[in-house]
Amino acid sequence: MNDAYIDTNELVRLAREVQGVAPISRFRRLVGDATGGGLPPQADTTVSWSLKGMADGRGKQFLLLRVSAAPTLECQRCLQPFQWPMDVETRLELVKSEADLDDSTDGLHEQDPEDFVERIVGSQRLDIMALVEDEIILGLPYVPKHEVCPSLPEALDQNAGADRPNPFAVLSQLKKD
Ligand SMILES: [Zn+2]
Repeated sequence: MNDAYIDTNELVRLAREVQGVAPISRFRRLVGDATGGGLPPQADTTVSWSLKGMADGRGKQFLLLRVSAAPTLECQRCLQPFQWPMDVETRLELVKSEADLDDSTDGLHEQDPEDFVERIVGSQRLDIMALVEDEIILGLPYVPKHEVCPSLPEALDQNAGADRPNPFAVLSQLKKD
C-alpha cells in the first residue's frame, strides 16, 4: 500500500486498526532525493506501521501509531553508514480544528512533558504515510552514532570471534565420530 488515507472518525468509532508496509525509499522527506539532502543512500529496507483508533471514557479520541523502520544513518564518529533499527509507538490525540492544537486554556496547569500527547486534526482523509514519515523523522537520533564503531579495536575483537567455529558445532562433530 503506497498511499493510504483514513477517515479518523471511522477508525475511532469502529476501534479499527489498519496496517501496512512500504519501502523506505518512498519517504522522500526522510531519505531525500537524487539532488541530495536527507539521509545517506538507503539499504533496501521496509517500514511497517499500524494505526489504531480508540476513545477514552471522556470522549477524547486517539490514534495509536506504531512504526518500525531501519533507516541507514551516517555515524558521526566514524562517518560510516549504519542501520538504525527503530520501533516507536505514539499516541496522538485527535482534535477537531487547528485552533484546538495548542489549547492550553483548558484550565490545566503546565503539562508534564512525560504526559505530553501530540495532537493532530482529525480528518476524513488523513494521510497515513505523512504521519508515519513524521514519526520516523522525529524518532531519528540527534547525533547518530554506532554503539561501537566497527573501526575501533573493541569491535575488531568482537568481529574476529565470528570467524571462530561455534564450540557447540565442534562438539556435535566430535559426537558423530
Ligand atoms: Zn561509527
